[in-house]
Amino acid sequence: MNYDKDKYKIWDWKNPAILHWIINPGLVINELILGQTIPKVMLIEREGKKPFYQRSLIPCPHCGEQHSGLKYSARNKTATKNWFGFYCDNCKGIIPVQRNITSIIILSITFPVWGWFKKSIKQKWLDKQPERYKNLDLDIIEIEKNNTTRNWLKSGLYFGVFMFLCMVIIYPLIRGKEITLEDIMIGIPLWIIGGLAWGLTMKWWMNKKGKEKKALNS
Ligand SMILES: [Zn+2]
Repeated sequence: MNYDKDKYKIWDWKNPAILHWIINPGLVINELILGQTIPKVMLIEREGKKPFYQRSLIPCPHCGEQHSGLKYSARNKTATKNWFGFYCDNCKGIIPVQRNITSIIILSITFPVWGWFKKSIKQKWLDKQPERYKNLDLDIIEIEKNNTTRNWLKSGLYFGVFMFLCMVIIYPLIRGKEITLEDIMIGIPLWIIGGLAWGLTMKWWMNKKGKEKKALNS
């Protein structure tokens, strides 16, 4: 699908936020158990005073409808249980989502267990969707500020732990190097700080306002 590149920034797997969704193994819990997910393509309005999460749109590739990111939010209780993707309440299709790599591996290994039921589970899930999108609250207000902060702290820590495991444990193991206590003692605080810094950057980014047409305040 072609989107207006002057009006929107287009996010796909090459964007750090979506790439992070793919590689961070901690997100497997969010994806497989809670049913949180991230769309394959997102459109970010370039202009506007609204914070980032209110400028993000999720386009439906089937009917072309551009859904407000708020449609799939904690406020509407629709941020979770999206195991098969985001439901499009316009055409009743499913908007494709980006899968986490660890989830894909787990799902492939366990396929013989759930593969038989996939069709019926999916149908049951699909039947429940229209009801969830009946009374949506899409008004733009200051929402879930504390909630977003906590989420980013948590994902920052997950990221730190992931990097610690990769850099301090797995990488030396692959290279056949010895892991010393010193490496671990330095690695833990280093990656906790690194992870939190990353989390904070993401939080700042999520609340970042769009470009204004004219600089009124400067
Ligand atoms: Zn649609």
